[in-house]
Amino acid sequence: MSNILNAPVGEGGKIGSAVVWFVTGSQHLYGDETLRQVAEHSQTIAKALNEASQIPVQVVFKPTVKSPEEIYNVCADANNDRNVIGIITWMHTFSPAKMWINGLKILQKPLLHLHTQFNRDIPWADIDMDFMNLNQSAHGDREFGFMVSRLRRNRKVVVGHWQDEAVLQTIGGWARVAAGWHDWQGARFVRFGDNMRFVAVTDGDKVEAEYKFGFSVNTHGIGDLVKVINAISDAEVDALIKVYEESYTLAAGLVKDGAQRQSLKDAARIELGLKAFLQDGNYKGFSDTFEDLHGMKQLPGIAAQRLMAAGYGFAGEGDWKTAALVRAMKVMGAGLTGGNSFMEDYTYHLDPANPLVLGSHMLEICESIAAGKPSCEIHPLGIGGKEDPVRLVFNVAGGPALNASLVDMGNRFRLLVNEVEAVAPEHDLPKLPVARVLWKPYPDFKTGLAAWILAGGAHHTGYSQNLTAENLEDFADIANIEFVLIGKNTNLYQLKNELRWNEVYYRGQ
Ligand code: MN
Repeated sequence: MSNILNAPVGEGGKIGSAVVWFVTGSQHLYGDETLRQVAEHSQTIAKALNEASQIPVQVVFKPTVKSPEEIYNVCADANNDRNVIGIITWMHTFSPAKMWINGLKILQKPLLHLHTQFNRDIPWADIDMDFMNLNQSAHGDREFGFMVSRLRRNRKVVVGHWQDEAVLQTIGGWARVAAGWHDWQGARFVRFGDNMRFVAVTDGDKVEAEYKFGFSVNTHGIGDLVKVINAISDAEVDALIKVYEESYTLAAGLVKDGAQRQSLKDAARIELGLKAFLQDGNYKGFSDTFEDLHGMKQLPGIAAQRLMAAGYGFAGEGDWKTAALVRAMKVMGAGLTGGNSFMEDYTYHLDPANPLVLGSHMLEICESIAAGKPSCEIHPLGIGGKEDPVRLVFNVAGGPALNASLVDMGNRFRLLVNEVEAVAPEHDLPKLPVARVLWKPYPDFKTGLAAWILAGGAHHTGYSQNLTAENLEDFADIANIEFVLIGKNTNLYQLKNELRWNEVYYRGQ
């Protein structure tokens, strides 16, 4: 089973063992000399992509495919190679596309079509028919593109010279997305307890999700987790407390000999138990609920926050869809500046001159998005009826960000994204005992929120500082699900029509 994120980001910033194959299409028509040049040029491009700092995975050259059999075989091999997260295709010359039908039909890995040309510039003084015959992707790629469209296959199309910075960035972004998708295949998520009673949007069809997305979600009674928590040794707890002391500013009651020191130990034990449970079960994320904490002393706060920071997906109240989404976002953003966290739209500042959303959760915001050193605090929690939970409290820096929500519309999944501008807090919030972030939704507060409500977006989201709407659109394309963007150009009339038209499109799927 792949576990890309948990493999260290290696030399050159590559994500785990992830590999993309670079496949060039041609045909035998041109003779050996042209095919030799095609292979040489393809190797040069594959090597450059592999070495590009913008592309966080290995890019491996594959020999030019020139027949239906070679194409079929390379697609079958890509399907079977567990390290291959996707393939990039390019038609340096003309590759008659009927040759691609059977290969594309079976290809299960994400596809990027790089519409490039080996030569950047036309050699005005020297250009002759030999040059034209070799550098003909302008029409060779159209023939290939027709077949991919004819087969109704989603793919990423990237246009431009292969040394162009923007092209490398886009390929790198797609590779991140493909890595996130790859990580979902066979992934396991665990829910402790069921969905929060009566809540609709966080629930959904887990059978359809496993079929569509490749990950499974299964439930364990909280007692199974409590057993593991209770088996954690005092020495392990003491060692983790040291980490807390080194990493965070501890509130007065939590320091050595503080009145609530025992609660910090309980929190550490919960974190260690959860981590052991996730590791033993090879889980990539989890959800819990304050309604089912039998045998637990506290609702996991700092535990969920730190496990998210370690790469696990998480969402509260049994929200398995958001937990899985947060995990995928973490894989996609691996190694980038900024973080990805579980988030909830909590409360509003409705000043007409400066409307804002305050995002937070009862406890569980990932410290990967923290501005500065978090403080480790303990406060009462109004619900759940347990002891006061320990949590990390911090602000979040301003800057571009987005919220993503995966909802189950009954006949399909919808991935909804709202681009936002996070705003550095202008006020101290001395009595708010949770991590929080302020943002302005695009295109503006009222339009953005009305659009979100119309599109059925959840109150739970994955909040990202380092992914783009394009990344998530590519992710939805790979998953073959609906994607709805609320961004700088959204207007409600258009959005409402888009949602109506999508109803028809997905009825026909
Ligand atoms: Mn919630």
